[in-house]
Amino acid sequence: MSFESNIREELAKILGKEWVKDDSVTLYTYRCDGLTLYTAPPMGVVFPGAVQELVSVVKLLHKHKISFIARGAGTGLSGGAVPQDESVIIEMARFKEVHEVDWINRTITVDPGVINLRITEDVQSQGYHYAPDPSSQKACTIGGNVAENSGGPHTLKYGVTVNHVLGVEMVLPDGELIKLGGKHLGMPGPDLLGLMIGSEGTFGIITKIICRLTPNPEKAVTMLGIYKSVHDACESVSSIIRHGIIPAAMEMLDKIVISAVEKALKPGFPLDAEAVLIVELDGLADGLDAEAEIVEKLLKESGATTVNRARDEVERDKIWRARKEAFGAIGQISPSYYVQDGVIPRSKLPEVLNEISAIGKKHGLTVANVFHAGDGNLHPLILYDYENPEEVEKSHKIGEEILSSCIRHGGTLSGEHGIGIEKAEWMKDLYPGNSLDNMQNVRTFFNPENLLNPGKLFPQPGRCAESKSGTPPRNATVLDKSKMVASKSGIAV
Ligand SMILES: Cc1cc2nc3c(=O)[nH]c(=O)nc-3n(C[C@H](O)[C@H](O)[C@H](O)COP(=O)(O)OP(=O)(O)OC[C@H]3O[C@@H](n4cnc5c(N)ncnc54)[C@H](O)[C@@H]3O)c2cc1C
Repeated sequence: MSFESNIREELAKILGKEWVKDDSVTLYTYRCDGLTLYTAPPMGVVFPGAVQELVSVVKLLHKHKISFIARGAGTGLSGGAVPQDESVIIEMARFKEVHEVDWINRTITVDPGVINLRITEDVQSQGYHYAPDPSSQKACTIGGNVAENSGGPHTLKYGVTVNHVLGVEMVLPDGELIKLGGKHLGMPGPDLLGLMIGSEGTFGIITKIICRLTPNPEKAVTMLGIYKSVHDACESVSSIIRHGIIPAAMEMLDKIVISAVEKALKPGFPLDAEAVLIVELDGLADGLDAEAEIVEKLLKESGATTVNRARDEVERDKIWRARKEAFGAIGQISPSYYVQDGVIPRSKLPEVLNEISAIGKKHGLTVANVFHAGDGNLHPLILYDYENPEEVEKSHKIGEEILSSCIRHGGTLSGEHGIGIEKAEWMKDLYPGNSLDNMQNVRTFFNPENLLNPGKLFPQPGRCAESKSGTPPRNATVLDKSKMVASKSGIAV
């Protein structure tokens, strides 16, 4: 597929020829995001560089009833940026300006293509940072974060994107430019801004974002608990929370992930451990060491054989680099991985992790675990070979069984990676009765013709995907996954 010549000409008139692409290399490059199990080529890719250009492009595509989709850095892990119905991809990479830092109101106003980490880099010399810190923060954009309501290791204490975005400007699917929120707290009436954040690019294309800045903590203490069993590490998580302590972060890596990060990054994690638990406390310097001693005691009581404390920033950075680059490190031990993202009540961690391991064994594939333990947000990494169709099929199966297990244990479908294409069919299992219809009605209000990012988040209006529990859905037309093929996992942030 490529642009019809009249569409290409009209787009080129708005953007200039060099910013309208439909050559085979471009179509191949944009066929998937970080979830490489799903691929489909776009009709073409356009690269607007200003809001008015974007508005004109959207109006043009809307007039011709051509579907379109915004794309940030393409690090999404649920197929959110994978084109459906041969959509046009609107690449937001040229929107990368930091417009204003307002120290009095503690806000920063940025373009959607600004990389998450850049915000913190811009303000840290003044003692501030942007709190949501996805492990992909060196690559992902703030526009993608808003669309996915992204989290990260430190969101246990500080909250996710919705807690740190005060306002947005966005283009609706018919080209209307609107503003929601501002530099102030709250707005009367229904919370449209809250509704927008996490709508996975199906309500509008974000063109500006006002983010809240957070003062850096006076001090942080980072500890590494070492365990002979995953079960004990899970017990430590419960024990700390039960004690009334909310660490800034609590992240777990199992034996397989430890071996991968040791090969790639050599953080000094013991290779004979079954699990390590990173616990970070932060806040005022006064009293923090005393709290760290309580945590150390709790970790040991619940089974940690050793608890190491980072002695300086170098040691702390080593630990965090190993955690944040753990997905990429998996390349050392497997040609590909499929990362799942389920949430369960923290109390169910030992049970569900046992089940996940059994599911992997049953299908003959290894499942590694690195996750936000404090939030009960699991990231099982299913290791497979993308050149082996049987393993590709098995990895889908394992992913589905893991999700079923999360739902069965009172959990949900996604903690932070979103629903995208991957889990749209599962929404019927999660939301009974007319709840799903009501949510879809809200989407239809913003996106009545379903031209913006079709096939994501919900089954499309009049095109409901099949329920995973087997109940035939109304007006069912299942997404055509046969057109999608697995490809090499290429993301290593
Ligand atoms: C190694 C790795 C680690 C990760 N760790 C985390 C983590 O710790 N926490 C976490 O939450 N996620 C994590 N992710 C997932 C991913 O990085 C996030 O979902 C991120 O927010 C996606 O941003 P992006 O710019 O890459 O968006 P894309 O992948 O390009 O797009 C994602 C969705 O956002 C929409 N979108 C993008 N830009 C806009 C815009 N301007 N307006 C409207 N919609 C838009 C797209 O249409 C799509 O639906 C990780 C991914 C990887 C590969």
